[in-house]
Amino acid sequence: MSKIILITGASRGIGRAAAILCGERGWSVAVNYVGNHEAAEQTAEDVRKAGGQAITIQGDAAVEADVIAMFDKTKQQFGQLDGVVVNAGIVAPSLQLADMSAERLKRMFDVNVLGAYLCARESARRLSVERGGKGGSIVLVSSVASRIGSPFEYIDYAGSKAAVDTLALGLSKELGPQKVRVNAVRPGLVNTDIHASGGQPGRAQRLGVNTPFGRPGEASEIAEAIVWLLSDASSYTSGALLDVSGGR
Ligand code: NAD
Repeated sequence: MSKIILITGASRGIGRAAAILCGERGWSVAVNYVGNHEAAEQTAEDVRKAGGQAITIQGDAAVEADVIAMFDKTKQQFGQLDGVVVNAGIVAPSLQLADMSAERLKRMFDVNVLGAYLCARESARRLSVERGGKGGSIVLVSSVASRIGSPFEYIDYAGSKAAVDTLALGLSKELGPQKVRVNAVRPGLVNTDIHASGGQPGRAQRLGVNTPFGRPGEASEIAEAIVWLLSDASSYTSGALLDVSGGR
């Protein structure tokens, strides 16, 4: 059955890969992006080429008005939502906590925690049957960092993702009776540009050799888990924190 899916931060990386995989299923995808319009249009074009429908929606996942607008635009264009991938996230350059500024901490928690909670809240409002929705699936993109703690580099990021895990656990219980499933996917080291944006290009390849699989994951391998959780094949799965980490 065809689905309507909103994916935040889908211009590149894991979000883009998930969008294209949705396209391969013939689904309709709202591709949210914050800055790179051209890259978002490319994702949308690739979704269409794969067999789906796509629109792009600019908006900052950490800004309440933008989040509400991206859900409204998705509904105007495609109709009632079936699923949301709360994927937008950031890292920052490697530092110990003692050296982190309050500004850095605030931005990390604004995007990765406030952003995730706002997107999840809006999803709850739109999908819950008692609020006029038809149920659906929310997939939160967390990280194995939430159980590792990421000392000496990303202790702030790890904490932000622990909050995302807790959101999945709690919200799955609130929304189970509303026919909404909520799960988190926790990637390990994945070969995307996020590492370069954190000042460590090549980090995934460098550290990936020390994982049980001896390599980093690819965005498409994380996308498979995300799309499974969006699909009806996972109809009895909710409240799961699914590590997709090559055994890390
Ligand atoms: P990426 O940097 O390629 O993609 C992240 C996307 O989010 C980008 O398109 C970026 O523009 C967007 N984004 C950032 N802030 C935003 C905001 N405020 N509003 C809207 N969009 C915003 O990285 P990725 O690896 O594809 O990351 C996707 C998710 O996977 C993130 O939540 C990340 O924390 C998580 N993750 C990644 C890895 C990894 O090794 N790559 C590991 C674990 C978890």
